[in-house]
Amino acid sequence: MARERLYLFDTTLRDGAQTNGVDFTLSDKLAIAGMLDELGVDYVEAGYPGANPIDTSFFAERRPMRTRLTAFGMTRRPGRSASNDPGLVALLDAQADAICFVAKSWDYHVRIALETTEDENLASIRDSVRAAKAKGREVLLDCEHFFDGYKANPAYALACAKAAYEEGARWMVLCDTNGGALPHEVERIVGEVCKVIPGDRVGMHAHNDTEQAVANSFAAIRAGARQIQGTLNGLGERCGNANLVSIIPTLKLKSEYADRFEIGVSDDALGHLVGISHRLDELLNRAPDRHAPYVGESAFATKAGIHASAIVKEPKTYEHIAPERVGNTRKLLVSDQAGRSNVLAELERIGLSLNKDDPRVTRLLDEVKEREAIGFAYEAADASFELLARRMLGQVPHYFDVEKFDVNVEQRNNAKGERVTVSQAVVKIKVGNEELISVAEGIGPVNALDLALRKDLGKYQSYITGLTLTDYRVRILNGGTQAVTRVLIESTDETGEHWRTVGVSANIIDASFAALMDSIVYKLMKSGAPA
Ligand SMILES: [Zn+2]
Repeated sequence: MARERLYLFDTTLRDGAQTNGVDFTLSDKLAIAGMLDELGVDYVEAGYPGANPIDTSFFAERRPMRTRLTAFGMTRRPGRSASNDPGLVALLDAQADAICFVAKSWDYHVRIALETTEDENLASIRDSVRAAKAKGREVLLDCEHFFDGYKANPAYALACAKAAYEEGARWMVLCDTNGGALPHEVERIVGEVCKVIPGDRVGMHAHNDTEQAVANSFAAIRAGARQIQGTLNGLGERCGNANLVSIIPTLKLKSEYADRFEIGVSDDALGHLVGISHRLDELLNRAPDRHAPYVGESAFATKAGIHASAIVKEPKTYEHIAPERVGNTRKLLVSDQAGRSNVLAELERIGLSLNKDDPRVTRLLDEVKEREAIGFAYEAADASFELLARRMLGQVPHYFDVEKFDVNVEQRNNAKGERVTVSQAVVKIKVGNEELISVAEGIGPVNALDLALRKDLGKYQSYITGLTLTDYRVRILNGGTQAVTRVLIESTDETGEHWRTVGVSANIIDASFAALMDSIVYKLMKSGAPA
């Protein structure tokens, strides 16, 4: 049976750019557009030319891509002609394949916000669509606040969409602008719209204010809409937009959709979804959401021992899809509940296959249990687990010794008479026969220690230049005077790999030192530093 084509429209670079704390540079925008193009998204809305210099320069030249690059902008202003509206003229001049106009479709907004008449708003839609078509552009109309507008005045909301349809706009996009619509309402209203405008000309633009943007997108598809708008990782102002990273695998892998619809994303591209999602986080300098559906690190992670042994025997028993379809991996957490199969599976993940009856597996399992009992958390520290396992197998070279370190914290008045706290660390290490002493000042004692440790590793220095700490977390366990401190550190390097290490001690500096050391040794090992 021939499957129906469903189109994906990404607005990460336009609506997603409204996210708090997100500021795309031109090169970020080009990189993200390239990623979306590779992924196979049909439309990339790259910005609002005329609204800011970055978007204007994005559209100042042709940027050849498979995807249809779309420029966003307003319909002509009330009371002006299309040719006499500088904003519209700039939009029509943008080097874009398609133009997406936004127009009000809620009569209340037309009167209050736009301060014009309902008829003038319809005329503005018609004129703008006509002008863009005359320029040879494909045209989309974002019907702003469509669902609220439809509930208040269905005839007028529909008239706005129809005005664009009759002028030949390719897509009439129904926007849940404030994100308050619920799936059953979306399904009903989109169904009613599709009786008037064919579904293959209707799009859905959902916001996530009730955490149902993805559900609302699927409700729209069920009701007949054939274009779905969203963003990578659900970026967007307030609570975000519909998350294409969740929508795409559902469309590709769930038979209800996969059997009926075809999208531009190939199986091969789907296999890179985790990489794409993480690359965006990397560009935004954000830690990926571990619990993100499909692509999160925990999406296919299982803790309990019984489940783990069942998963190894038959993954389908506990997983709704095969993780590798989206470029993810199965992860069995090593924890105090862990059985032998957890440890074996973790060993396999890091490329060490041992026979399950190997006595070293028992030793490792005992060691993990013993250490977890005193506060280590290997499920959150993959690199420390790997070091523990490889050390037991004699696979971790002895790179250097820390002969001693000294960290001090001094509070005093500075020259201006202000109270300041200064931390300084001195580290003495031995690399082969070479003794090296490094001194560093830091914002706090751990920062000073980290800087001093990594300042001069002698012949190993070049292997760790790309190493950066991305997260540092301290947890006090047990409480009271017997308290133990657990430090978890996340590090990354020039390859983009992230790894986590753990240290436990009654002393926060010792715990931090242990976690820092594991991170450095892991980095040396993975960079292939010679012993
Ligand atoms: Zn929006």
